[in-house]
Amino acid sequence: MSVRVVLLGPPGVGKGTQGRRLAAQHRWALISTGEILRDAVARRSPLGLEARQQMEQGLLVADDVMIGLVHDRSAEQDASAGFVLDGFPRTVPQANALDSMLQSRGQRLDAAVGLEAPREELVRRLSARRECPLCKRAYNLITAPPLNDEECDDHPGTRLTQREDDKEETVRRRLEVYERQTAPLLDYYRGQGRLRSVPATGPVDDVYHSLSQALGC
Ligand code: AMP
Repeated sequence: MSVRVVLLGPPGVGKGTQGRRLAAQHRWALISTGEILRDAVARRSPLGLEARQQMEQGLLVADDVMIGLVHDRSAEQDASAGFVLDGFPRTVPQANALDSMLQSRGQRLDAAVGLEAPREELVRRLSARRECPLCKRAYNLITAPPLNDEECDDHPGTRLTQREDDKEETVRRRLEVYERQTAPLLDYYRGQGRLRSVPATGPVDDVYHSLSQALGC
């Protein structure tokens, strides 16, 4: 059975961590638009050059760019068995485009999961967030630290890095942008009867358990 799921929620709520795990367990593709963009910025590709400034300022990249990107990525072979979208859609036009894209392929979105956590918790998590530059595995220096200093458990000797946009001022901007442009999507999916809300505080395993239950998988 192929399943298509959208993970919604503010920056720092755990979409990447939970999405990665969900995709790995079910062999669905993980489509993380933030990760694709960061990769493009690092490679200085045309997409990266276009997106870089917006990302650094904590603002959204243009809808048409993001819609084109997801259109192409979701048509790749590994996504035919299902996918988890992390970071897309982020605006109502993106959500509309996703619906029409799937409809034109005779597919549909199975669920939109809204992960929820209080704002102070998000700021705390984002400032302690680190990632492995090689495998992108996520760590949190307070709640999920690596075994050894600030090195990746899976890549000994590789120092964890902090995302440029996890610095305090940009974090504040990203949370505002979320409230203004992305939070309305909760109502969008609620109105269609497709929203499943999942509390995302507490240990990663507990959140994953609630998420799996909400999806019935
Ligand atoms: P994320 O890793 O999901 O927090 O995304 C990092 C940054 O990439 C965001 O702050 C935006 O600048 C950009 N971005 C990622 N996904 C989208 C999207 N669906 N629409 C617009 N901008 C996006």
